[in-house]
Amino acid sequence: MSPRLPSGVLENWLTRSRAALARLELGPAVETVGRVESFGDGIAFVSGLPDARLDELLRFEGGRLGFVLTLDDDRASVVLLDGGEAIEAGAKVVGTGEVARAPVGPGLLGRVVDPLGRPLDGGEPINAERYDPIERAAPAIIERELVSEPVETGILVIDAMFSLGRGQRELIIGDRATGKTSVAIDAIINQKRSDMICVYVAVGQRATAVERAVEAVRERGAPERTIFVVASSAASPGLQWIAPFAGFAMAEYFRDRGEHALIVIDDLTKHAATHRELALLTREPPGREAYPGDIFYVHARLLERAAKLSSALGGGSVTALPIAETDAGNLSAYIPTNLISITDGQIVLDARLFAADQRPAVDVGLSVSRVGGKAQPPALRQVASRLRLDYSQFLELETFTRFGGFSSARVKTEIARGRLTRALLTQPRFAPLRFAEQVALLAALADGALDAVPPDEIAAVRARLRAGLDATAARAVEAVAAGEELDGASRRRLVEAVATAAEQAGPFVRKGP
Ligand code: ATP
Ligand code: MG
Repeated sequence: MSPRLPSGVLENWLTRSRAALARLELGPAVETVGRVESFGDGIAFVSGLPDARLDELLRFEGGRLGFVLTLDDDRASVVLLDGGEAIEAGAKVVGTGEVARAPVGPGLLGRVVDPLGRPLDGGEPINAERYDPIERAAPAIIERELVSEPVETGILVIDAMFSLGRGQRELIIGDRATGKTSVAIDAIINQKRSDMICVYVAVGQRATAVERAVEAVRERGAPERTIFVVASSAASPGLQWIAPFAGFAMAEYFRDRGEHALIVIDDLTKHAATHRELALLTREPPGREAYPGDIFYVHARLLERAAKLSSALGGGSVTALPIAETDAGNLSAYIPTNLISITDGQIVLDARLFAADQRPAVDVGLSVSRVGGKAQPPALRQVASRLRLDYSQFLELETFTRFGGFSSARVKTEIARGRLTRALLTQPRFAPLRFAEQVALLAALADGALDAVPPDEIAAVRARLRAGLDATAARAVEAVAAGEELDGASRRRLVEAVATAAEQAGPFVRKGP
């Protein structure tokens, strides 16, 4: 049992973890001594270290650490990893010959740590198996395999229409407070039923939001298989900058042992802002929207590390769900377009849908999953193949008929079916649906078994379904989970279970058409 994240811990971690810092293994020190020329805003300009390398960790007089962000002929800009007092000009600096490293290994599971692996949950220091460089080359093409195994998020709209596969990179993008974190946390919680290891990386988030995410997973998910890497908005820019890279190093440890990891980065917009801040402070030339030109490369080399490895390398995987925030739904801003082009698809959350209580507020027209389709279980594919098209047509038809005037029976039936679909796609938080439940609901929808149910009552039917399925259709549930095709008999069983759940929730008098 790991203790709860006490409030105030994010402010205190600096003091408590100085000792842990001192214990970091840094290898043999290079002997040249440099000097601090100037210091401000967490950045030191250092001269006299001709051998310093990019990303190298430097140690300042007094023990503080920073990493080299840029190198000029005779000067390096160094990002301090911790906040704290100003460093005097003239202070001594030595190279460590090492890049920044993060602890990896099973000792991190269930823990809340900062990007250097220092505990933030008030627990014991991390029992690391080893320390890995936070920057690591992505697997080469030849070391990879096509994405073929599903990641079950338990969220119907995603699993049915934008199914994800192990090794995929899927962006979750939307305006402020549209449920981005909720989608990712629901996906993590659903791994309670799988063998996946989860890494939740919080970058620049408010401490309360992080605490809520940690609590949700501890209460409902599998915290013993989850690692929380936290560099909240109060952490130094240096720590925020390395957080996603450290998270990947922790996930890759499991990937390299043939296991499967899911990493959420919440969020890369904040990470980009930190990168811009550091770049402006180190006087790199600003580019579009004042971001330095290398921001694309920073995020590309990060997300490229998500992969499904070939069986020769153990067949492990890292699946990445980076999160990005948009401003007034503007997907064509610089960072969103970058991230959309780097990832294998995006789940777009829409503020208007969210305000209309359509939650998760997924915009079905703008969302896409480019590689996960092959990983979707066959039974789900069978019943979901037409869903996106039908639903999109319904949305158009609904707009079209909003002002009345269309009374043909066919239009009315289509609209009634569309409203039912929308009710099915509306799903509260912390209520994941198994693949079999999703198959049953979609098959029942297609067969008309839900036609008598008013859309408001769909939630009641869904709530009763699980027990009914296990009691009367256990064999079909197993078949779906095992990735078998859906035969006629299994399909009937599943639909009957939905019909029974509807009867129990009812009785419903059929309204219109
Ligand atoms: P931020 O931009 O602040 O990071 P966000 O986009 O991550 O916000 P969340 O914090 O996940 O959004 O969600 C915002 C609010 O919406 C929360 O109060 C959450 O409980 C609620 N919410 C999210 N998803 C659902 C859902 N499926 N059903 C009901 N409420 C939801
Ligand atoms: Mg959020």
